[in-house]
Amino acid sequence: MSTQPHPTSPGTDAVSELRALFGGRAIVPEDGAYDAARAIFYGSRNRRPAAVVRAKDADDVSRVVTLAREKGLELAVKSGGHSLAGHSVSEGGIVLDLSRMKGIEVDVEARTAWAETGLTAGEYTSAVGAHGLATGFGDTGSVGIGGITLGGGAGFLVRKHGLTIDSLLAAEIVTADGELLRVDAMTHPDLFWAIRGGGGNFGVVTRFKFRLHGVAEFVGGMLVLPATPDTIASFVAEAEAAPEELSTIANVMVAPPMPFFPAAAHGKLVIFAFMAYSGDTEAGESAIAPFRSLAEPIADTVTPMRYPEMYGPDEPGPDEEVARSLFIEAVDVDVAAAIIEHLRASTAMMAVAQLRVLGGAMARIPEEATAFAHRKRRIMVALGAIFGNREEETAHREWVDDFAAALYQEEPGVYVGFLGDEGEERVKEAYPGKTWERLKAIKARYDPENLFSLNQNIAPQTGSS
Ligand SMILES: Cc1cc2nc3c(=O)[nH]c(=O)nc-3n(C[C@H](O)[C@H](O)[C@H](O)COP(=O)(O)OP(=O)(O)OC[C@H]3O[C@@H](n4cnc5c(N)ncnc54)[C@H](O)[C@@H]3O)c2cc1C
Repeated sequence: MSTQPHPTSPGTDAVSELRALFGGRAIVPEDGAYDAARAIFYGSRNRRPAAVVRAKDADDVSRVVTLAREKGLELAVKSGGHSLAGHSVSEGGIVLDLSRMKGIEVDVEARTAWAETGLTAGEYTSAVGAHGLATGFGDTGSVGIGGITLGGGAGFLVRKHGLTIDSLLAAEIVTADGELLRVDAMTHPDLFWAIRGGGGNFGVVTRFKFRLHGVAEFVGGMLVLPATPDTIASFVAEAEAAPEELSTIANVMVAPPMPFFPAAAHGKLVIFAFMAYSGDTEAGESAIAPFRSLAEPIADTVTPMRYPEMYGPDEPGPDEEVARSLFIEAVDVDVAAAIIEHLRASTAMMAVAQLRVLGGAMARIPEEATAFAHRKRRIMVALGAIFGNREEETAHREWVDDFAAALYQEEPGVYVGFLGDEGEERVKEAYPGKTWERLKAIKARYDPENLFSLNQNIAPQTGSS
């Protein structure tokens, strides 16, 4: 049985068939809308698919999946288009664009929502936020709920309510044979386990059913502090000691010349942190006080607010970026000093080390309960450099690799949602222990020919693998 990616040059018959099936919703290179339709968040992933099909419902999804399988076409699946590896656009194949599928049904009493996978995290959060409710996604509103949920989903509510997948109750998914399955803990439990962290390997999810949490009282915003070895290490220590209601995302970086930063901070190393406290206002202020007293804040917008306001306006993605992610267990002053040293050495337009202290509800779920198995890891790190000229890529890539090597502690591991195009060994690092073999076995059951290969790929188990 072949596990090779599908060939990528559709004959004109496949394109005409797509046109016949979908009319103007199948966008081809001759169409004026083509360039916008093939664009994704990272502009440098500049690929030219044979067609982009804007699906309107699960039937459309099933037709596209079936046609791609029958004609042997590479299939890219696009929800919010934020894949770091550019997996949501194909060179020569079909892009199945879900962004028109934005239906949402909120059951306020039952505290659940069925949401179509064309919604972004920001759109979903606004819709359910109108009822004082939320499901946690990430730190960026324009990320699609499709990709982030299938990878795991770590954001502003991770310590209080766990990963996004910890609030996932059910899903509807079109598998490689074109069939629409409803999956949950009782129905196709193996598939339900696999899609909670296993990415887009198992089919196209058309709808998710999420649990909703009360966020009527919420304290959040941005706190900017000067970055020194002491403030960085103390920030991490405070984030670990904080009540679970508080999740933080700390970006250590050189303050860009943006109006948000006082002019005096421009060009200086800062901790630019998202603070998110889900709970009683007074307790939230007390939880944030120790961070405010680490140093004189450069900027501080932390205040009681409506949870959806945590997402700012959508920003376009950078053209050129290199990134590397890992888990570490501790940030003492030596680690913090290494962070500063590497950021200072970067020649990029913007260089950042993002630190997310985990734990809380996320860590209480058993490792084998979902395909996201890094439950006990304490700090998620994402390193990145944004630059303007592609010729500089090698230098920035070396910088990010050296930086990651300097921070490495004890055990490999990466969050699949933060993986670029880094090869199979790195994909395996996302799935420690028995997770990898179990995912391969489930892949063999639901996608034996690896139709869904344009992703952080888990090749189906074969007799010998
Ligand atoms: C600026 C930025 C900020 C981020 N912040 C966070 C964060 O705070 N927390 C976090 O956890 N992650 C974060 N991420 C990572 C993000 O979760 C992943 O990049 C995710 O895959 C993006 O989802 P998407 O739907 O926008 O992307 P897409 O590019 O549309 O999809 C990515 C991949 O997911 C699969 N996929 C998407 N939708 C479906 C579907 N409906 N059915 C089947 N497969 C599907 C496909 O394999 C596709 O190639 C961030 C990424 C960016 C670029």
